[in-house]
Amino acid sequence: MIAVRDLRFAYGQGFALTVPWLDVAAGERVAVVGPSGSGKTTLLNLVSGISVPDTGMVSLGGTEIGALGDRDRRALRAASVGFVFQEFALVDYLSAEENVLYPYRIGRGLRLDRAARTRARALLSEFGLGAKTRRRPAQLSQGERQRVAIARALVTQPKVILADEATGNLDPANKAAALDLLFAQGAETDAALLCVTHDHELLPRFDRVIDFADLAGVA
Ligand code: ADP
Ligand code: MG
Repeated sequence: MIAVRDLRFAYGQGFALTVPWLDVAAGERVAVVGPSGSGKTTLLNLVSGISVPDTGMVSLGGTEIGALGDRDRRALRAASVGFVFQEFALVDYLSAEENVLYPYRIGRGLRLDRAARTRARALLSEFGLGAKTRRRPAQLSQGERQRVAIARALVTQPKVILADEATGNLDPANKAAALDLLFAQGAETDAALLCVTHDHELLPRFDRVIDFADLAGVA
C-alpha cells in the first residue's frame, strides 16, 4: 500500500533526508521510533503527499504521488490518507464534530452524507467525547484535542493511516484506547498504518517496529 524507493528530500540547503526503501502492506501496522529532529515528520509529510521528494518515489496503492499535479495529489490525499498531526492542526473556530468532518469540506470527491456524520459521532463517543461534540478546541483539554485529531484521521476510512506521535499527550489508558481505535479502524478497511511513536510500551502491539536510524540517512 505504501512504497518508498530511493527517496531524497531536502529543506533548501538545510536538513536532508534519504530513505532507500520502505514498504507497508495493506493491513500492516508499523511503528517508527527515533530521536526528535531525525526527520520522522518529514517522512510522513512525504508519504502523505504534503511534500514531494526531490528524487525517488513514493507510491500509495500503486499510484506514484510525485507524478501527480497538486490538485490530483490533494484529492488522493483526501480520499486515501488519514493523518494525525503531531500538533493536531485543529481548526479553532470549528466544533469538535466539525473538525472531525473537516476532510469532507476540503476533499474533492468526498461526500458529507449521513453516514459520515454518524461515523464522526461514533468515533467521538468511542473516544469519550460524546458529550463534547459541540465544543471548540480551546474548550477541550490537550488529550481531548488529540483524540479529536485521531477521529478526524479515521472518519474517511482511509487506506493509509499516518500518525505522528498520536498518543503522545494521552494518559496510559487513553494511549491504549487510541491505539485500539486506530487498529480497529485499520483492520476494518485493511489500511496500512504507519505510526511514529515515543511510547515504547505500545511497541509490542505493532506487527513491525522500525528504528528510524536503520531506515533513513540524514545528510
Ligand atoms: P522529527 O519529526 O523526527 O522530530 P522533523 O522531520 O520534524 O523531525 O525535522 C527534521 C529536521 O528538519 C529538523 O532538523 C528540523 O529542524 C528540520 N525541518 C523541519 N521542518 C522544516 C522546514 N519546514 N524547513 C526547514 N527545516 C525543517
Ligand atoms: Mg516530528
